Order: sequence, then structure tokens, then C-alpha cells
Amino acid sequence: MKLDAKIPEGPLEEKWSVYKRTAKIVNPANRKKLDVIVIGTGLAGSSVAASLGEMGYNVKSFCFQDSARRAHSVAAQGGVNAAKNYKNDGDSVYRMFMDTIKGGDFRAREGNVYRMAECSLNLIDQAVAQGVPFGREYGGYLNNRSFGGVQVSRTFYSRGQTGQQLLLGAYQALMRQVSKGTVNLAAKHELLDVVLIEGKARGVIIRNLDTGAIESHAAHAVVLATGGYGKIYFLSTLAMGCNGSAIWRAHKKGALMASPSWIQIHPTSLPQSGDYQSKLTLMSESLRNDGRIWVPLKADDTRKPNDIPEAERDYYLERRYPSFGNLAPRDIASRAAKERIDAGFGIGPLKNAVYLDFSKAIHNLGKDNIKEKYGNLFDMYYKITGYDAYQEPMMISPSAHFSMGGLWVDYELMTTIPGLFALGEANFADHGANRLGANSLLQASVDGYFIAPYTIANYLSDEVKTGKISTDHPAFQEAEEAVKKQIQQLIDINGNRTVDNYHKTLGKILYDYCGLARKEAGLLYAIEEIRKLKEDFYQNVKVPGNGSQMNAELEKAGRMADYFEIGELMCFDALTRKESCGAHFREEYQTADGEALRNDAEYQFISAWEWKGDTTEPILHKEALIFETVQPTVRSYK
Ligand SMILES: Cc1cc2nc3c(=O)[nH]c(=O)nc-3n(C[C@H](O)[C@H](O)[C@H](O)COP(=O)(O)OP(=O)(O)OC[C@H]3O[C@@H](n4cnc5c(N)ncnc54)[C@H](O)[C@@H]3O)c2cc1C
Repeated sequence: MKLDAKIPEGPLEEKWSVYKRTAKIVNPANRKKLDVIVIGTGLAGSSVAASLGEMGYNVKSFCFQDSARRAHSVAAQGGVNAAKNYKNDGDSVYRMFMDTIKGGDFRAREGNVYRMAECSLNLIDQAVAQGVPFGREYGGYLNNRSFGGVQVSRTFYSRGQTGQQLLLGAYQALMRQVSKGTVNLAAKHELLDVVLIEGKARGVIIRNLDTGAIESHAAHAVVLATGGYGKIYFLSTLAMGCNGSAIWRAHKKGALMASPSWIQIHPTSLPQSGDYQSKLTLMSESLRNDGRIWVPLKADDTRKPNDIPEAERDYYLERRYPSFGNLAPRDIASRAAKERIDAGFGIGPLKNAVYLDFSKAIHNLGKDNIKEKYGNLFDMYYKITGYDAYQEPMMISPSAHFSMGGLWVDYELMTTIPGLFALGEANFADHGANRLGANSLLQASVDGYFIAPYTIANYLSDEVKTGKISTDHPAFQEAEEAVKKQIQQLIDINGNRTVDNYHKTLGKILYDYCGLARKEAGLLYAIEEIRKLKEDFYQNVKVPGNGSQMNAELEKAGRMADYFEIGELMCFDALTRKESCGAHFREEYQTADGEALRNDAEYQFISAWEWKGDTTEPILHKEALIFETVQPTVRSYK
């Protein structure tokens, strides 16, 4: 299979303008004849559904939550990036592009990344026009803060609720279209399959989560804006419901999966405190603007943090990365924390954490100032841990967070299945091997508001003559039958082990062998273990109830079945990439001082995997990464 990314010709700064100028559009009178299904109501899904509705297409929008505005974008805290240069600190679209390309360890496409930086300018204006209450300076200008891996302030924020506020903006836009009748919205509906007719995406099979009814929906194009699959590790910063099933089911229908092993482990989550947890809460990266990370200089130090004098503390990020210090990018900060914890310097009851200390910032700027910037995060920390972070340092630890991998898409955000688009965290496109903080809300939003409305229209312009797609086509019946069969199979097992138990076990295998560090022997072992666990699942899982009712365990079991396969593919991906880059740290490939050792000569490509069935190994396809503007260099934050 030849992968064509369809990057427009011409200078980097003109590629997107050239595309927009030359893309085909659909006559407004014809748009009503065209149906689009959008799965997901996060920033990517709500924004694209609202935009397509406003343009005049018939849109059907689905999400599995009980309300569209509870999509997981709501959880994002720290901020959204834009190269506005309001601080006059040297920012520009080009600098943002460079930071992102470098932050992703030169494993992303230049054209996509530049477009994201370019579109960031408009996104802030769009959000402000929607009423998103960004933090402001005294004089009224929008305020900014810094996130990891950059030396300018380009992160716009609404205290620690930026995702929620942006999502409310997108949700309002969506509901406006719902009230105008252009978007038909159904919450508590879960996609279980994508339907192809003559090779094109023509619809979906959906389960109504309230009634258990299986429904077919047809359209001229299908958009997956279904978020990330970082929850595969079980313990992560994501909510329990987040899952990878929509993209995985599309993958099994022919959409290639790109770089599945590139999953970001965030350095500043709350540490695991026992075996009973289902989630680890994120403490936003924005805290690293003012918080300093340290561990005691002495291993196994049992003193309280405030009793440890300054001279006996190791501010290891400041020591190892003096130019970026506490704002080193996430992959680097997480690995550095793991290194100290593994070496015996971890703190807290399980010795699995490091300190994030605000005492200096409180001393220099005052408690009120810190409270104004991060008050809700400090409150959240207090509610969860019982500790007052104004008085003593927070305890933080790395945790699975964001999937850079996802469905392979071309410049038009179309997968290898014609008519099937993937937006936001569901695709792999813009972050390379490590996402910079605050670039994801941006990517999800610009994919939906600004990019897909052009590229989907370009695709639909050839569909005007197709006519209505009917769910009477046998492809829908076949897909419905397959979905019903899988549901019955899961219920019939009637074993004695819960889905969560399998999920926890899989998560631990992946965290230990395909997490912050990977090596060949561990990955081979993990593949074997995952296969055994999957076999056990199909013999011993217990799904109570039946398929014709609301059944949360059944939902989880279906997602779990996919997680085994995603996990196995992650290990294959990590195994075959014999280099270290970004979040993918192969222990065999590191520099003398423990930094990632990239191998551009052999691995300057995107891995895109083709599903070949349950018992056959997946096939690797390669999309060469061509750098015309930047020269890949050794990524250093020292
Ligand atoms: C705790 C936390 C904090 C974060 N903070 C930041 C931050 O400060 N800045 C930043 O840039 N990024 C942040 N991120 C990342 C960012 O929030 C996400 O990457 C981004 O919001 C993803 O948006 P999305 O639209 O792609 O997906 P989501 O918002 O995850 O939405 C996915 C949608 O798909 C639907 N869906 C999924 N599967 C199915 C299915 N099978 N059937 C039907 N519907 C389905 C869901 O119901 C949901 O509506 C954070 C992430 C987390 C977890």
C-alpha cells in the first residue's frame, strides 16, 4: 500500500492557503443532499459538527456520555496554545512550528504542524467571540503562561478549566445547530462498527446505551472524533469511559493505525496510593511555571519535606536541563522522575512520587497571586489528598495521559478508508513522538473548526450525484449481525472474572513493558502475556445481564476486547522501532547520559499498521518523513 500524505506543494507557509484556494466546494443548494455522521462531541467533534451544520450539511452527531458537553475535553485544565505573541517575547507561527516539531522529536509532518500553528491565531479569536472566559491582564489583554518545551508564553487559559470553557463554547455552537435542525444529536449512543460499501465509509452501527438497541445509520462521510486510548493503561489521567474502540473497529475495517506505541506519560499526576484506584488525577503542567520539582538528596529520606533544608534537595530538572529547568517537555520530565524514583529517591508512602514545590513562588509573588493562577488545582489537590499545597509541596508522579498515535490520516485528515475522517486525539497527525502541553486542545479545535470543513467538503463535492445512502444495503445487515454476535459471545462466556480485573492486569503489563521505558525482551514478553490474558478473557470474563438493556459491564467488555488487540499492536510498534524518540524510549538506544538516541537514517518515518486478522501479525507500512524546512538535530533542553 502506498501512503500518500497529500501535502500540498509549495513553500511551507503557503501550503494551507494553497489547499484552501484549490479545494473543491459544494454548492449550498446541494449540501442538504449530503449526510455526514460525526462520532464524538469533544472539541474536535462538536466543532466539526457545528461547522458542517452551519454550512448546510445534514449532520448526525453521537457520543457515549449522557451529555455532549461531558466529552473528555471537559477535563483539560492548563491551557491552549496560540502564537499570538501578546507578550512580545519573540513568538511567531514559525517558532511555534519549530517548538512543536522539535518537541515531537522530529517525528511529525512539517506541513501538518505548520498548519496547526497557523490556525492557532484564529482559534483564540473564535473562542473569545464565543465567550470563552480566558484569563486576562489587569488592562484587559488576554494573559498567557508557559508550558513545557518552549521558552515563550503562548498558553491561553481559563484558570485550571480551559478544556471545560472551550468545550462550552463548542457545545453552544453545536446546540445552536441542533435547534436549527441541521444537527441531530444523540448522547448515550456508542459506535460499534463502521460500514463500508464498495470500499468507502458509508455509515456506522450504533448501540443505544439506554435500551441496548442496535441501530444502523448511513451517510456520505463518517468522522471519528473519538479521543485517545491512553486509558488502556487502566491507571491514567483519563476518565474510565475513555476508550479506543471506535478507531480500533475502523482499523479492523481497513484504516491503518499510526505509531500506536507513542503514548505520553505525563509527569505531574497524583501518585498511585493503592490498588483500589481507577484513575489518577492530573495536576496541570501549568503548575510547573511556578512549581519547582525536587527529591531529597539522600535516598529513603523519611523527613517531612519542610524539614529538609535547601542544601539537601535535588532540583533534578534544573540540574540536568538548566535552560528549560522545570519546564522541560513531558517525556523528559517523566523519565527524569522515573530515574530518581527507581534510584531510591522517591517520596511518599509508596516511594513513587517527587515533590512539586511552590514555596519560592509564594515567597516571591505572594499567596494571592498563586491562588489566582492555580486556586482550583490547589483546592482539588487538597480535596483528594488532604494536604495544603500552599503550606507544603505537592506529591506528583508520572501517569499515562495522551495518545500521540491514532488512525493514520493524510493532510486532509482522511484515513486510508475513503470517506472516513479522524480528527483530534483520534488521529496521529500533529504531535510526533511527544506532544507539547496545550497543543492538544488546539489541535482538536482547529481540526474541527477550520480544517475538516474544507477537506470534508472537498471529498463531498464528488458525492453530490451519489444520492441517498440507504441502510437497506446488505453491508449494514452484515455489520449489525457481526455486532450482535460479538455481544452475545461476551455474555455467553459467563465466567467469574470482572472486566476491570483484566483491564488492570493488561494496564500493568503495558506500563511495565511498554510504558516509560521499553526493551526488546520486555516487549516480546508483553506480547506473550497479552495473548494469554486475552485467551483467558474469552473463557472467564463475567458480563452480567443481557444485551437488550442498559449494561455498563457489557460496554466495558467490548472495549476491553479491543484493548487486548491495541495493546498487542502497541508492543509490535515499539518492538520494531529500534531507536528512542520522544515518549518511545528503548533502553537499548540511549546516550551515555541517558537521553533518547534517535536513528534518523533508518527510522525517519511514520509507522502505519495494517490489520491482518486475529492470528496473523500486522503489516507495517512506512510513510517517510520529509524535512524541507528544518534540519532534524539532537533534541536538547540542556
Ligand atoms: C486530565 C487531562 C487534562 C488535559 N489538559 C490539557 C490541556 O490543558 N491542554 C491541552 O491542550 N490538552 C489537554 N489534555 C488533552 C486534551 O484534553 C485532549 O487531547 C482533547 O480534549 C481531545 O479532544 P477530542 O475532541 O479529540 O476528544 P474527546 O474530548 O476525548 O472526545 C471524545 C468524544 O468521542 C466520543 N466517543 C468515543 N468513542 C465513542 C464511541 N465508540 N461511540 C460514540 N462516541 C464515542 C466520546 O463520547 C466523546 O464525545 C488533557 C487531557 C486530560 C486527560
